[in-house]
Amino acid sequence: MPLHLDTPLIQSRQLSLLADRRIWLKFDALQPSGSFKLRGIGAACEEYKRQGRTRFVSSSGGNAGLAVAYAGRVLDIPVTVVIPESTPVHARKLLEQEGATVIVHGAAWVQANELAQSLLDETTAFLHPFDNPLLWTGHATVIDEVVRAGTEFDAVVLSVGGGGLLSGVVEGLERNGLSHVPVIAIETEGADCLARALAAGENIPLSAITSVATSLGANKVAEHAFKIAQSRDVRSVVVSDLEALDACEQFLHDHRVLVEPACGASLATIYNPQRRTVLDGFQSPLVIVCGGATATIDKIREWRAAAA
Ligand SMILES: *Cc1c(COP(=O)(O)O)cnc(C)c1O
Repeated sequence: MPLHLDTPLIQSRQLSLLADRRIWLKFDALQPSGSFKLRGIGAACEEYKRQGRTRFVSSSGGNAGLAVAYAGRVLDIPVTVVIPESTPVHARKLLEQEGATVIVHGAAWVQANELAQSLLDETTAFLHPFDNPLLWTGHATVIDEVVRAGTEFDAVVLSVGGGGLLSGVVEGLERNGLSHVPVIAIETEGADCLARALAAGENIPLSAITSVATSLGANKVAEHAFKIAQSRDVRSVVVSDLEALDACEQFLHDHRVLVEPACGASLATIYNPQRRTVLDGFQSPLVIVCGGATATIDKIREWRAAAA
């Protein structure tokens, strides 16, 4: 039994009317850890347990850390998450609720990650948030489920941070004979490492993450994701924080589910009329509603007021 759920897949009436085509939503916001990350991380944790590892370590104060904490609790493996002082209290509380040992260390993620690395030994598995083939194979189940449901779609819209979801979705398309289906890869300004790397023809790192969509905040995408984006039909789109935040607010209204701006970024391709041109030529796009548990509605409204 995998740790993730086969999430609801619905044809959104509201979004279909707005976009004047069938919009399919895969509701991974409803995974028990709050995001799609449980697919890959759950699969990786199960594999590490089979290999005899007796502890899981993460340095993510976001959805990756939450997925590790959830997986560890269900698999009965202790989890340690090292997070920087900058991690919001809300995220820290969620980790503690899952029963993880939370160590707060350092001003920024680099220091937290250094301490996390120093905790590793042969019996401990480190769970990287996106750069691990076990994760991609787990994320690919999102496409298996849509195909098994008999749903036909002609493009996939998804958000990109470090490119784990992108890598997994492409693996899923390939293993279901859908290699020809284009992927529309959304980032926010200030977390747009894939867009910049593609423009430069080289996987160069961002010097700073300035977007509120912190779940998309990788300095650069995994090399595997960069190669995929260069070699198949991946259309890179960058939206503003305000567009992503507006989409979160409207999605909450339409579908009664709160998602992070990391996910609102993908939804902005439908909610913002100017962005809908990226869907031109597609009759039935599939949007991965990747979710995210770390933003509250108050925080989203605060960011929105600041960005407007
Ligand atoms: C991690 C995450 C992403 C980005 O996924 P990557 O695999 O890093 O590209 C997008 N949305 C949410 C909610 C996430 O937690």
